Amino acid sequence: MSIVVQKYGGSSVADVAKLKQVADRVVRTRRSGHDVVVVVSAMGDTTDELLGLAKQVSPNPDRRELDMLLTAGERVSMALLSMAIRELGGDAVSFTGSQSGIITNDRHADARIIEVRPVRVQDELARGKIVVIAGYQGVSYKRDVTTLGRGGSDTTAVAMAAALGAEYCEICSDVDGVYTADPRVVPAAHRIGTLSYEETQELAESGARVLNAQAVEFAKEKGIAIYARATASPLPGADPAADGTVVRRHPPRMPGTVVGVASEKDVLLFEIETSARESSGERLALHVLEVLDEHHVAGKQLRVSGDRLTLVVSRENLHEEPRMRAALAARFGDAVRIVDTLGALSVVGAGINASFENVRRGSAALAAHGIAIDGLATSSFRITWMIERARLDEGVRLLHRTFIEGQQTPVP
Ligand code: ADP
Ligand code: ASP
Ligand code: MG
Repeated sequence: MSIVVQKYGGSSVADVAKLKQVADRVVRTRRSGHDVVVVVSAMGDTTDELLGLAKQVSPNPDRRELDMLLTAGERVSMALLSMAIRELGGDAVSFTGSQSGIITNDRHADARIIEVRPVRVQDELARGKIVVIAGYQGVSYKRDVTTLGRGGSDTTAVAMAAALGAEYCEICSDVDGVYTADPRVVPAAHRIGTLSYEETQELAESGARVLNAQAVEFAKEKGIAIYARATASPLPGADPAADGTVVRRHPPRMPGTVVGVASEKDVLLFEIETSARESSGERLALHVLEVLDEHHVAGKQLRVSGDRLTLVVSRENLHEEPRMRAALAARFGDAVRIVDTLGALSVVGAGINASFENVRRGSAALAAHGIAIDGLATSSFRITWMIERARLDEGVRLLHRTFIEGQQTPVP
């Protein structure tokens, strides 16, 4: 029997009624003739609530203890879902990340999976069981419980699909696939039928929450097809791209087409004046990066130009910001400036920087609407403008109109 891995996000299991609907969908999948492994997220906003509790107790919560706390959210869902499946006559068993064999490095709060040993999962599947796994967590080779970074249940699902040789990995959410922009921000956004791994990864890294970037990286490495679908949708039919998004290798597309617009609000911009100290500027920059590493700050973009180093970081998995700010101020004083008013606005597509046309068009559209550009970075798949955070949603709508609504043929 072929194995199918399904992941249900927090909004899909937000309350008991929704959890029962998920249980029903899982049982239907099993009855349609598949072995089923289900990965669940914490219910609704549980992870944010647990984080809020931690911050009330400690403004710089210890990352190991934070992982112990946050993994509890997914354990609640896995046990409840397993019970709900049993109630419908299915035979389910739940496992934590550790029990399912997800081995990570020892980096707390944004651990990377280094190996999956799904022996217990395989044994239970062989016994005919539906296996329910707590997403977003693993165990380090030092035997400590770890979490995989925000949105990490997607990563659990894809890693498990790869380790089990699953036919596909379904990521079920409140939205029926990947859109040309966040449909909550851009009403005119439309669903994209098929995306390549690279396009999806860039969209995810640019802030499109619908799929986690690390999960896509895993899928790409192992060649796993991802079906992004709505939890309320039917089971995938002969053409899963008809009512969801399929992420797979190289779908044909005209090079240079912008496939999507994404934004990330919660970023910090670091500006480091490397000429500000007597010591060599290069050394100063390295010392700043060392302090950032000590505080587990993951960088997104780094740029050196003349006497200035600029660094953009995501706040998503940064849990000790007050301590980091104090350490930087104590060691480097005014040489390090932290800007907390900007956001990143990106357009994504293969080959979009083959000429400067797209950079010019986007920059001109922003300027025409009085949106100041505080930084610009490009890669072969992406153009990112740093703009005022308060105008980010407006910027997304504007670039969607410029690049996507104006296109002669819509993104298929
Ligand atoms: P889950 O809890 O199921 O993991 P998330 O909240 O992590 O769900 O992701 C789904 C949300 O991602 C959607 O509700 C949508 O607002 C947002 N989103 C952002 N960008 C996109 C996009 N390009 N396509 C679809 N959804 C997007
Ligand atoms: N519950 C975790 C989060 O909110 C993981 C996930 O939902 O994927 O980030
Ligand atoms: Mg998610």
